[in-house]
Amino acid sequence: MKRRIVIAIDGPGGAGKSTIARRLAAKLKFLYIDSGAMYRAVALWASRQGAGLSDMLALEQLARASEIGLSSDPTTVSLNGEDITDAIRTPEIAQAASKVSAIPGVRRALVDKQREMAENSSVVMEGRDIGTVVFPAADVKIFLDADPEVRAARRLRDLEEKAAAVSKEEVLRDLNERDRRDRTRAESPLMQAPDALYLDSSGLSIEEVETAILKIIRSRISNGKEFER
Ligand code: C5P
Repeated sequence: MKRRIVIAIDGPGGAGKSTIARRLAAKLKFLYIDSGAMYRAVALWASRQGAGLSDMLALEQLARASEIGLSSDPTTVSLNGEDITDAIRTPEIAQAASKVSAIPGVRRALVDKQREMAENSSVVMEGRDIGTVVFPAADVKIFLDADPEVRAARRLRDLEEKAAAVSKEEVLRDLNERDRRDRTRAESPLMQAPDALYLDSSGLSIEEVETAILKIIRSRISNGKEFER
């Protein structure tokens, strides 16, 4: 019998989660879900509406009402029908996402959506709480990490590709601040699930990380059995 497979990839910003999750999903023909993009979408909508971060109820309602679309190949993100793929990739929205994501009601709303999205197919989902909260029974859990300097350099490269004028110091400061907030919040903080595999990608190429994770996936789930794509 075919069964649904869930691969959870968690870790701090700039560890390489998106790149690797996207590649794995394409290779395995699973659905790719970038849960961070969903928090960014809510942050964008909240900032456009001028919603204050202290109005938790309004933010929860906004998160519930948001129609977030994620698609791959090419990777795009939409909010209520509008393409927001580029609009959510600014340092301001990254910070705002980290703030709205600390609100329990916002998390509840988006976790519900994440579970729904994965209801009918196998998924590679990346974020901060996928292996701990969203899918505690995921088939494979990876905690992908890297040195802060390496993460900042990667993030800087991404931003430069989008022609954003920022310095490495600013990117490092921004990442450290978000990490601290994500790791210390009361609700679903960023942490490694006890049964997740820790992988430090600092000295590894994307191909090496991919090979290492594919090996883990194959040893855990295939065993010659069929699974839902
Ligand atoms: O992964 P990304 O940098 O796009 O995530 C933006 C922010 O969204 C993170 O800093 C974090 O605060 C929040 N987030 C979260 N839980 C997730 C994914 C992202 O709290 N599963």
